Amino acid sequence: MDKKTIRNNSISIGTGIGTYYLTKHLGFRTVKTVLSPLRPKIPENRVEPLRQSINELIKNEQLDKINIRFVDTSNPQYIEACNKNNNKKLFSIKRKIVSTKNPIKKLKLLYVYSKQKRNTKIENELLEGTNGCYINFLKKIIVNMKKIPHAFFHEAGHAIDYTNPFLEKLFKYNKNKKLLRFPIFATLLTALVTPANKENKTITDKINSFVKKHCGILATLGFLPMMVCETSANLKGQFLAKKYAHADLKLLTKSHMHSLVSYWALPLIAGISVWTANKVKDKIAQNLKHSDPKTLKS
Ligand SMILES: [Zn+2]
Repeated sequence: MDKKTIRNNSISIGTGIGTYYLTKHLGFRTVKTVLSPLRPKIPENRVEPLRQSINELIKNEQLDKINIRFVDTSNPQYIEACNKNNNKKLFSIKRKIVSTKNPIKKLKLLYVYSKQKRNTKIENELLEGTNGCYINFLKKIIVNMKKIPHAFFHEAGHAIDYTNPFLEKLFKYNKNKKLLRFPIFATLLTALVTPANKENKTITDKINSFVKKHCGILATLGFLPMMVCETSANLKGQFLAKKYAHADLKLLTKSHMHSLVSYWALPLIAGISVWTANKVKDKIAQNLKHSDPKTLKS
């Protein structure tokens, strides 16, 4: 490869990566703008009946027997304790950053600080009731019962799924975001570095061409563990809603549908982004080749 070919390849692959991030960003923005207002809100007069249904669910499904506990983040004492604990942690790291002279240790502490800040943000979402969750190592379902009691059913679905060894393994994979990103980047890079019209001589060429041809679907499939976990939690949540909260079934069905669409939108956007990036890269590579006939020799 001569210098011009290297330059042209770098430009086309760079444009592909840029297209991927742009499409992903625009896709997320669009989905968030469209889906956020559609999130079902719970009428105030349904909070108490739902709380009763949930108490019945906890008792009848014997969640305590499998050591699953429930934390209601609308409890003012809980909120106060959390805020106090988080402020204490942040203050303690800040103090260490100021007193540490070693620049490497300082950098490490700054990383710890940013991580703690991120955790605090997630915890605040749980306290404010913009999100609920199930934490397996604590065996806790965490939901704000005043704001989003309907989220309890989905999180209980996760908790029950964790008792299944296969789903537990999938969950662990799913929780590790780095592992989840790997198939997408492997697919994206393979698609981008493989030329549009390559002769498939070796087995590696054949694999690369296959990945390139199906890059959109393969990137989407990288999210399969997440799709299985979240779909299963919604189905179990819906099953529990039918069993314990018949009076609010319409609202709960809407909530589970909304959750399902949100979780399926993410893999679709990843697939569309990788597919678009590949197409744009090939187009750019083709244009550069035509505008620079010398590179045809290489
Ligand atoms: Zn979930």
